[in-house]
Amino acid sequence: MTTGPTKQISIKGRTIALAIRRSPRARRMALRVDSSLGGAELILPPRVSESEGLAFAASRGAWLLDKLDQLPPRTPFCNGAVIPVQGDDIVIRHAPGTTRTARFEDGALIVGGGDNHLARRVRDWLKREARRTITPLAWEKAGIIGRKPDRISIRDQRSRWGSCSRTGGLSFNWRLILAPPPVLDYVVAHEAAHLREMNHSAAFWSVVDEMTAHAKTGKQWLKTNGARLHAYG
Ligand SMILES: [Zn+2]
Repeated sequence: MTTGPTKQISIKGRTIALAIRRSPRARRMALRVDSSLGGAELILPPRVSESEGLAFAASRGAWLLDKLDQLPPRTPFCNGAVIPVQGDDIVIRHAPGTTRTARFEDGALIVGGGDNHLARRVRDWLKREARRTITPLAWEKAGIIGRKPDRISIRDQRSRWGSCSRTGGLSFNWRLILAPPPVLDYVVAHEAAHLREMNHSAAFWSVVDEMTAHAKTGKQWLKTNGARLHAYG
C-alpha cells in the first residue's frame, strides 16, 4: 500500500480532504472515512486512474457527508480547550510572554510564546509525556517474558495504535496518552507480547494476559472510542 497525495474535493459546497492510496492487492475501488484526517481515504487498485477514483468518490458524496457528520467533533489545541491526559481532563492555558515550552502546573497545561505555535507545543508536550510513560512500561512488560525491545519509538500514525517490527522495535501512537491508562497498558502489552509471538494466536493472547489485566476492555474501548482520540489537535 502506498500513500499518495491528499486532495481537497468539493461535495455539495463542502471541502473534504481525500487521501489517495494505491493498493496492489485491492480488487476494486473503496472509499472510507478517515477520522485522523477528518476526511476520507480512497483506495485504488492497480490500473485504475486517479480521475476514475475521484469520480467514484463524488458518486458516493451523500454517503460520505453523512458519515463525516457522525465523526466526533474536533477539539483543536487552543487556549481554554480541555484535553484528556491519562484519564484526567486538563485545560490548555496560553500564557504569552512566559516560557515557550509547555509545562503542567496546577491542573493546567501552560504554553508561552506565539499563538501560531501553540498547537505544535501542546502536541510536542503530549509526545514527550507519551514517551516518558510508554518507554518504562514497554521495558517492564517485555521483561515479564525475558525479552528486550530493540528500540521504542513514539509516532504519529494515522491508523495504528502500535506495532512491533521483526527486529523487535516497538512503535506507539502518541495519542495513546489521551486514552485512559488501562487502554494504554493494554496496547503496550499487546506490542510487547509480539516480541515472543509474531501473530494473534491463542498463545499470543495468553502472553498478553500475563502482561495486563485489561486486554478485553482495552480492545473494546479502542474499537468504540478510538476515533475520538484522533479528534484532538
Ligand atoms: Zn498485534
